[in-house]
Amino acid sequence: MADAYFNLTGKVALVTGASQGLGAGFARTLAAHGAKVVLGARQAGKLQALAEEIGAIGGIAHAVSLDVTCRASVTAALDEAEEALGPVDVLVNNAGIAITKPFLEMTDADYDQVLDTNLKGCFIVGQEVARRMAGRPEDSCGGSIINIASVLGTDVIGQLSTYCTSKAGLIQLTRAMALELSRAKIRVNAIAPGYIETPINSDFFHTPAGEKLIKGIPQRRLGRDGDLDGALLLLASDASAYMTGSTITVDGGFLVA
Ligand code: NAD
Repeated sequence: MADAYFNLTGKVALVTGASQGLGAGFARTLAAHGAKVVLGARQAGKLQALAEEIGAIGGIAHAVSLDVTCRASVTAALDEAEEALGPVDVLVNNAGIAITKPFLEMTDADYDQVLDTNLKGCFIVGQEVARRMAGRPEDSCGGSIINIASVLGTDVIGQLSTYCTSKAGLIQLTRAMALELSRAKIRVNAIAPGYIETPINSDFFHTPAGEKLIKGIPQRRLGRDGDLDGALLLLASDASAYMTGSTITVDGGFLVA
């Protein structure tokens, strides 16, 4: 049931990279709090089951094909989303990838792929959504853009040089967008998750190296489903009306260890 403080009824939220992992969880949570949710992923077909699951619990979801690295794909997805559910009020820039390799072996193609998805992708989707938000009538209630960064935007670990670089850039992009978009009533904030168990990394955390990493987290556990919901709902809703340019760390204490 929608909590009054984090009530998103009447809002349309777009989640990029919604086909699995954190993005699918964000979409479920936003829908459970009343938002109409646009699910974006490169293949819309992969999102049908999630759209139906949200529909079955009384929510409204619409799947669109969207590749965050391609501006034409983003504008087409936004046109379709507006047609289906109305203009986007909340954007969750979640799509992201990592390539794990020693720095000396990282190729130009690796660099481009990670930076294009994690940083330029957020630039493209954020800019296209913000242009539409800024063009809305004066009396509209504004918009919220939430960039999914990482604790590795400030900390670094081995073999993830391009990933760490992309997330550091995203934290600064968040601040720069917040500065310039405030006048248009658009708030831009980021969430920096620590290690959250998702299908993509679950195997690693059951290896000796993964178990060692968990022991280094002050709370001695990985983040799990729902641990990011408080930050997500705060930033998506009017409860954070006076917040912009912030990055909220949700990491079980990883960064202070
Ligand atoms: P994931 O691999 O399970 O999900 C990433 C999603 O992004 C997938 O649906 C994928 O298809 C999509 N995607 C990739 N490239 C895309 C593109 N060009 N266009 C559209 N969609 C694309 O990963 P996750 O663990 O759910 O991570 C989600 C976000 O959270 C990422 O930005 C990641 O960097 C960030 N993050 C994750 C963790 C963690 O521990 N899981 C920690 C910190 C930050």
